Amino acid sequence: MGVAAYHARMSENDGAHAQILIVGGGLVGSSLALALDAVGIACTLVEAAPQRADAPSVEERNLALARATVNGLQAIGVWAHAQAEAQPMRGVLVSRAGDFGSLRLYAHEAGLDSIGHTLPARALGAALQSALGVARQVEHLAPARVRALHVDAAAARVEIETAQGVLTRRYALVVGADGSESLVRAALGIGVQRHDYRQSLIVGQVRCARALDGVAYERLGDDGPAALLPLAGARAGLVLGVAAEACDAVLALDDVAYLAYAQQRLGWRAGRLLHAARRQAWPIRRSVAAALVATRAVLVGNAAQTVHPIGAQGFNLGLRDALTLAELLAAGGDPGDAARLAAYVARRAPDRDGVLRFTHALATLGCLRQPALAPLRSLGMLAAQVLPPLHQRLLRHGMGWRGQPPRAVLETLP
Ligand SMILES: Cc1cc2nc3c(=O)[nH]c(=O)nc-3n(C[C@H](O)[C@H](O)[C@H](O)COP(=O)(O)OP(=O)(O)OC[C@H]3O[C@@H](n4cnc5c(N)ncnc54)[C@H](O)[C@@H]3O)c2cc1C
Repeated sequence: MGVAAYHARMSENDGAHAQILIVGGGLVGSSLALALDAVGIACTLVEAAPQRADAPSVEERNLALARATVNGLQAIGVWAHAQAEAQPMRGVLVSRAGDFGSLRLYAHEAGLDSIGHTLPARALGAALQSALGVARQVEHLAPARVRALHVDAAAARVEIETAQGVLTRRYALVVGADGSESLVRAALGIGVQRHDYRQSLIVGQVRCARALDGVAYERLGDDGPAALLPLAGARAGLVLGVAAEACDAVLALDDVAYLAYAQQRLGWRAGRLLHAARRQAWPIRRSVAAALVATRAVLVGNAAQTVHPIGAQGFNLGLRDALTLAELLAAGGDPGDAARLAAYVARRAPDRDGVLRFTHALATLGCLRQPALAPLRSLGMLAAQVLPPLHQRLLRHGMGWRGQPPRAVLETLP
């Protein structure tokens, strides 16, 4: 239904809309709307950007999607729209410039064919839009912006600005999926702990002389991580972490100098890097909400926690937020019930805490310019490679199974 038609209906009868409002239709908010739709729950999804596949939140990133994430996207009807552009990942190899040892995690160690898939974020955005286009119970308002929110025990009251005017509505539950600078989080008075890594990640695609054959490479260095993600064809997603103050200079390099710089950071595993497509830089900051819920409100995805992209965890974690919330809401009853929100917090805690610790340790200790740390780091890498319990645990976490995962991501492992 178009915004104008809906607006006209709402002014006649403000009681006719859904009970759940999702603020933010990025990768996580859209996934949540589809997960609710899949279990027959209606919602309103409000997104500030116009409905297009290349919404600002996705652009040039290439995503590593854990196996659990692919299962989840299948369960909510998104994967069928995305899989043509996806590339299975057989494994990942992590090493540190200047240290000895490396960590190699392969799907076959768990009797599986892939640890996950890679996908241009743009393709995932387009797949989500396609799935939303056929969702029956999602009222999708875009471009539209939530500009004010007040909650009390009875309801969450919001003002939604649309091209046709301002809608004033009441919902039983408001979900903040509105990203790192979440208005919902601020309106609820939830504090946020921030950390600036003083790094930028430059992302884009390259063509390689040799196909990566389904293996992702991540090389940690003093300036941050550098990574190559296998994409369909002989293309790869290139990620280069650089010190914040060096970012403009690296972006300004011509293609030949840029490829030489990337080659020096990554080595020759994919042969010569031949052609670089458009590049884009992201400043890297962590933000962690002090609470996940408040009266009649809950935070998911980057609004709840924005982590360093180093371990490719952000969307994977955010999707598990969304699928867990949808699973709890599927039980029916008042969606904003405080006991249910408390259950959400308890379910998400081990996964969230684990990912926050892991990414921060990798981004700081893994990249610290500190020669005295090198032997310890090498020993840690060696232990993770050769000690079976630690190795299996890392493999399981790498595939997206941590804590008590939502049912939609599970499978029977061989
Ligand atoms: C370089 C880079 C590489 C990455 N690689 C990976 C990877 O390989 N694997 C992985 O899992 N993750 C990765 N991530 C992380 C992942 O991209 C993010 O975690 C994910 O996109 C967050 O999605 P989100 O929907 O929570 O937030 P966002 O994408 O920020 O979406 C929030 C949405 O809310 C909307 N909005 C904001 N305010 C309002 C309002 N008031 N009203 C209405 N709408 C509003 C915005 O327009 C936006 O569309 C990477 C991140 C970066 C920066």
